[in-house]
Amino acid sequence: MLFCSVPIASLPGSHWSVRTRPDIAAIILTDNSLPYPALHASHSGIWICSIDGETRAIGKGEAIGRVAETPHILLNAPLLGQRLGYPDLSGLDLLELFAFIHPAQFIVPTPAGLAKTLGLAPPGQEADIASLYRQAARLLLEGLEAPYWKERAGAWSSAQALFRLRWPWAQEVGRKLEKPVEAERWLFAKLSEWEEEPPRPAPQSITMDKEDTLATLDALTGEGAEDRKGQKNYAAAVTQIFNPRRIKGAPNMLLAEAGTGIGKTLGYLAPASLWSRQAGGTVWISTFTKALQRQLDRETRRIYPDEETFRKKVVVRKGRENYLCLLNLEDALQGGFAGRAAILAHLVARWAAYSKDGDMVGGDLPGWLTTLFRRNGATALTDRRGECVYAGCPHYRKCFIEKAARASQQADIVIANHALVMVNAARGREQQNRPTRLIFDEGHHLFDAADSMFAARLSGQETIEIRRWVIGPETKNRGRRRGLAARLADLASYDEEGGRAIESARHAAEAMPGDGWLQRIGEGEPSGPIEALLHEVRAMVFARDESQSADAGYGLETELTDVEGPMIDAVANAAEAMDALLKPLVRLGQRIEHLIEEGPDWMDAQARARMEGALSSLGWRRDTLSGWLSLLSRIGGPADPDFVDWLMIDRYEGREYDVGICRHWLDPTIPVTEVVTKPAHGVMITSATLKGGGGWDTARARSGAVHLEHAPQEFEVASPFDYPNQAKVIIVTDVKRGDMAGLAGAYAQLIEASGGGTLGLFTAIRRLRTVYARIADRMAQSGLPIYAQHVDPIDTGTLVDIFRDDPKASLLGTDALRDGVDVPGQSLRLVVMESVPWPRPNILHRARRVAGGGSAYDDRIIRARLAQAFGRIIRRADDHGHFVILSSAFPTRLLSAFPEGTPVERMPLEQALAEIRKAKSEMKQSGLPTETSLMHDNQQ
Ligand code: SF4
Repeated sequence: MLFCSVPIASLPGSHWSVRTRPDIAAIILTDNSLPYPALHASHSGIWICSIDGETRAIGKGEAIGRVAETPHILLNAPLLGQRLGYPDLSGLDLLELFAFIHPAQFIVPTPAGLAKTLGLAPPGQEADIASLYRQAARLLLEGLEAPYWKERAGAWSSAQALFRLRWPWAQEVGRKLEKPVEAERWLFAKLSEWEEEPPRPAPQSITMDKEDTLATLDALTGEGAEDRKGQKNYAAAVTQIFNPRRIKGAPNMLLAEAGTGIGKTLGYLAPASLWSRQAGGTVWISTFTKALQRQLDRETRRIYPDEETFRKKVVVRKGRENYLCLLNLEDALQGGFAGRAAILAHLVARWAAYSKDGDMVGGDLPGWLTTLFRRNGATALTDRRGECVYAGCPHYRKCFIEKAARASQQADIVIANHALVMVNAARGREQQNRPTRLIFDEGHHLFDAADSMFAARLSGQETIEIRRWVIGPETKNRGRRRGLAARLADLASYDEEGGRAIESARHAAEAMPGDGWLQRIGEGEPSGPIEALLHEVRAMVFARDESQSADAGYGLETELTDVEGPMIDAVANAAEAMDALLKPLVRLGQRIEHLIEEGPDWMDAQARARMEGALSSLGWRRDTLSGWLSLLSRIGGPADPDFVDWLMIDRYEGREYDVGICRHWLDPTIPVTEVVTKPAHGVMITSATLKGGGGWDTARARSGAVHLEHAPQEFEVASPFDYPNQAKVIIVTDVKRGDMAGLAGAYAQLIEASGGGTLGLFTAIRRLRTVYARIADRMAQSGLPIYAQHVDPIDTGTLVDIFRDDPKASLLGTDALRDGVDVPGQSLRLVVMESVPWPRPNILHRARRVAGGGSAYDDRIIRARLAQAFGRIIRRADDHGHFVILSSAFPTRLLSAFPEGTPVERMPLEQALAEIRKAKSEMKQSGLPTETSLMHDNQQ
């Protein structure tokens, strides 16, 4: 029997409970009316549950035949399609139904996660899962009739639209929903508006009292919390960045390395919140990963326990491309999207009505929702290319992006990310609201974030976007995108010179690549000067590339050096074309500025805001074009020692995506220091691995502190964890390099020895896929689920949620999992690394390696990566785990990457397996939770 007749767990948001749902058991027992069979498939088999409730195992051929004929209830169609080798599989997906009924609610998208959320007993074996799906479907559908269903508003209208779009669930949902007595309000009428508020006065200049900080910290950690000396010292050290700075351009700067487990977040939130309260200013806390943003969102609730105060005082900010653009959504709902993309748009509209902040990436939109639609249309619902029309938009006053931007001006704490802080500082609209007190957590990523942010890329993909921004799309099916002339029609009709500038820009933009550019340059028939340049670039890369990637189908690159002949001519023509576009854009910017100053009668507050918005996006394009021109001007001449330039072809599995010229700063902390650090009053850069496998010299270099006139303060506190007794590093000596069968076999045995709970880290996607393909069936037969980034059609955040939820599960992945995973407890007890994580020997790395001390530079990078990967295992004082490296040639000099005292031993695989099995049985004997007991705990 798969259902619970007793306590039904509350759904997140606690609106379903056994008290409010006395009828659930009855529904499950009696209702066999749902006329759909259910299907479940995994690597260990395929099962079907008929409409009579009979479950039986079937073969792949029969399963494909059945789902092609009749809609089946299933969970995660893309994943199931992949398991069956039938990528077009569709059906009645329970996740879509859940997203409709409970928008903005969290669920782990697995059979166990579904059971847990709905209060059903977890499936005891895989053969029970198909039957569970039918019960879950009935339960969800019955909920539509329940009077306590919280998300009823808007459902009826949405179901009507989904019925017209032939959404597979529409008929069943329609049967249960009653037409509301009063017509439902359209989403765009329902959302709240932001209020204009006066700018916040500048913060008061105060000197912080360390004792007050420690008292605040005590209040946050709560009575009875253990006395954490390291955390107190850390909080006291952070206090000094909030004191008045002495010299303009020289912020109070602190570099702080704080080992895992010292309670870093509360350690800086205590002084930050205190300063904000006393001085009346805003502190920006910047992270690199969304996981830490979520953690900070949770921890700041301790400072402001009252929900309303919390919402005012703490604001999460992300780049605008993360948020739903209501204008794009309206366009999608009104016919801009067709087929499955239109269904997604309606489910997103359901979510938007209940979302906390409209954040589609890592917010409360379930990460799995867009992947169910194979990402069909999701990106077109955000504002990815800066096409926002600001006050010209009918939803401007309800816009999620504007709401977050305005709320952050009044907030005490803004939780942002490194990229957004840099973008805002370099080219944001919020110059008067620049952060002056900044805390960069995960500071070891600052260098890489700056590297991406301040790079220039003159490529086909980038230039075609500029063309579209100026002219508008070439095809009609690109939604509401309009050219500059349409967006600034009122300016053109009022200001003749402005109108002429728009026309000249439109004309000059014709020289940029248009649709089909990649094919044309591949066939040697480029059109226009930029395509001609890209054609030369492509030919030169193919001629000179020595990376041996040509046959492997991966990206190609070559240095930008010894350029002659046709390339020089192509560069000159391209530069002329770009200059011809830049000039009218500069003129247009001047006319808009003039107009704003002049303030003609017709320009009301809305029109002014729109002009200011146009000026900002114009400035962004002007900077881009100027960057490209400066890049072109150096071709054929001497190289600029501050930059690394190269030519590239972006490829994946042999298919080309982009061609162009790249420019990166040799040291990207130079621009960050100029635009972010120097203008601030107080800055802290902190991380558990700030010294990145080197010493303070490395921390100063990677943070940009070397470019400040005054040396930063430095602070260090070690992790309180007992690494000698909690962790062990094992270097396996008998798995031969290049032996894929041996590597896969080692992974399978290690996962079995540990009973799952394994994070497998790879340095190459190809090897990850090969290992996964070889071991997936074996793991399934052992009852140990395995998931993999780059294989499973599931986003990385959801993969981590699944992994965290099931202690028997294992997860394979690459870089993003190395330090973006926070899984405390027994769900992660073994990390297996397939080889030493050497840096990719590309042109940029080569240049930095030469500048950074040769092999010592490489060693620092590898040590930092090892330390980050190792840091995944021990997240709490009661965690235990092994870190296994399957590379006998692991150099001894890199062992300093691991915390002092951590035991390290080289041994053959058999011995490693014996140790891991022993650790597992000791865990059982000591009463620590085993996978079985955890499975049960996780269902509570
Ligand atoms: S203001 Fe801009 S981002 Fe916001 S909904 Fe309108 S067009 Fe989209």
